Amino acid sequence: NKQVIFKNYVTGFPKESDMELKTTRIQLKLPEDCSSGAILVKNLFLSCDPYMRSRMSKIEGHYTESLTPGSPVTGLGVARVLDSCHPKFKQGDLLWGLTGWEEYSLITAPDTCFRIEPTDVPLSYYTGILGMPGMTAYAGFYELCSPKKGERVYISAASGAVGQLVGQFAKLLGCYVVGSAGTKEKVDLLKNKFGFDEAFNYKEEPDLVAALKRYFPDGIDIYFENVGGKMLDAVLLNMRVHGRIAVCGLISQYNLEQHEGVKNLFCLITKRVRMEGFLVLDYYHLYPKFLEMVLPQIKEGKITYVEDIVEGLDKAPAALIGLFSGKNVGKQVVVVAHE
Ligand code: NDP
Repeated sequence: NKQVIFKNYVTGFPKESDMELKTTRIQLKLPEDCSSGAILVKNLFLSCDPYMRSRMSKIEGHYTESLTPGSPVTGLGVARVLDSCHPKFKQGDLLWGLTGWEEYSLITAPDTCFRIEPTDVPLSYYTGILGMPGMTAYAGFYELCSPKKGERVYISAASGAVGQLVGQFAKLLGCYVVGSAGTKEKVDLLKNKFGFDEAFNYKEEPDLVAALKRYFPDGIDIYFENVGGKMLDAVLLNMRVHGRIAVCGLISQYNLEQHEGVKNLFCLITKRVRMEGFLVLDYYHLYPKFLEMVLPQIKEGKITYVEDIVEGLDKAPAALIGLFSGKNVGKQVVVVAHE
């Protein structure tokens, strides 16, 4: 069983060498005692997600647990069931959920996995648009932002797994949508593929406050926050009265020992802005409703999705690290096996 092993806790920026590839011999079988409900799976696609960075530190009192040094990295993925002790899954089923960065995994808590019903969309989409990032876009935009037609929406890290979908939801609703990203290629995607009204490269803007004022002369109604730091400060000055900010992520801060201060937080008061953090975990009960909405839109071509797919488990560490320098264009996926 080829595995990606997490070596030790990380401070600062993670490196490929914080993980190593190892091959171990295992017996592919379920435990003798089937009462645990475990399932044995073959991993097909692995998802690289920014939250995995916090799991590489020693954390306590967080919503997720640290990785275990010396053990395989764990994360979300798509897998095929080889054998099952669980009534919800049978041999041959496809699922997405928490699995290991390895060829084969024994999933001991399959209750948290979702069965994938056969559809004609790419299976890898269940790491992205039809999986956790898709649900994050859906819950964060519709449940937290109370969006209305014609409102002005701004999204940071807009070409990523979550952002590209938020922007398309906002466009379908009839909002004015602007996104920022870190390369020209990504800015072109936002404008030409995802149909954003405007997009800009935040790395080329010496004055973010002025850049936002250019795209939002009348201010921002909704900010979908993915990055934090200086961007949040610049956005606060540009918010409209009674604006909403869904605090989805703060990726610019994840590798800093000490988070940067936000100077303009007082704008929340003067502008009566609702800024609300959320965890996608609290919204999984909406998953069937989400699929009902988003699957037809994918099939009808009303929503599109860009993935950055690398082949092979050995490429997984570099793919994960790449999220923090913006190497990924779209949802970062790792293919472990095709069938
Ligand atoms: P992406 O696919 O967007 O990948 C991460 C992107 O973040 C990079 O490609 C890069 O794009 C950008 N980035 C990296 N470092 C910085 C930086 N220092 N400053 C600004 N941008 C940076 O990731 P996801 O779409 O999966 O995640 C987006 C955000 O949503 C993250 O903050 C994540 O933690 C959060 N999240 C929150 C969830 C929740 O339940 N609240 C669930 C899922 C995700 P670029 O080239 O544009 O800089």
